[in-house]
Amino acid sequence: MRVVLLGPPGAGKGTQAQIIAGHLGAPAISTGDIFRANVSGKTELGQKAKTFMDAGDLVPDEITVAMVKDRLAEPDAKAGFLLDGFPRTIAQAEQLRASLAELGNGLDRVLELVVDEDELVRRLSSRRMLVDGEWVQRSDDEPETVRHRLQVYREQTAPLSGFYDGEGLLARIDAMGSVEEVTARALEALGRSPQAGPQAGE
Ligand code: AMP
Repeated sequence: MRVVLLGPPGAGKGTQAQIIAGHLGAPAISTGDIFRANVSGKTELGQKAKTFMDAGDLVPDEITVAMVKDRLAEPDAKAGFLLDGFPRTIAQAEQLRASLAELGNGLDRVLELVVDEDELVRRLSSRRMLVDGEWVQRSDDEPETVRHRLQVYREQTAPLSGFYDGEGLLARIDAMGSVEEVTARALEALGRSPQAGPQAGE
């Protein structure tokens, strides 16, 4: 299955992406994780992306789209994938549609995780990552940057909900509640049972 996970920062996309991808037997591809790995590895791509990320802005479409195209061309993504954090603009969505169409493919479903904004701010300000054995706050999770990221989401990414609804692909998932509850709702929208593991041939 080819699935996109949409949702604002703090909605739990990363956590759900890993779990759902496990059920689908497909790779979870997170553009944020790929960018962060490039920033830590001090690659050319990382250097280009860092200023935008630190400011809570989107990395320009041409950089992001080229990176995703390369990733989707890897063998593990041939039969399916779950994209986490991409697309984030209508232009990215159009480019994704065009690249999949070139291969005779298309998306099967788009899941939008829906959480109210007070809860997002609460989750992001208490979120920590484990780096070299220490729990640290992501630099873009600081309160001012969080506010800016939410605004960027409302302006540039939220319109994707209507875009994919128009294509008949959108399922809106209530993402308040426990991780397990949200996973169960997402799997139901994908027509999967939470008990079943990855299915052969996918
Ligand atoms: P995330 O981990 O998904 O919250 O992404 C962290 C940061 O990476 C974002 O705030 C953006 O700066 C950048 N980023 C991730 N995905 C994209 C994308 N699809 N388009 C542009 N920038 C992105």
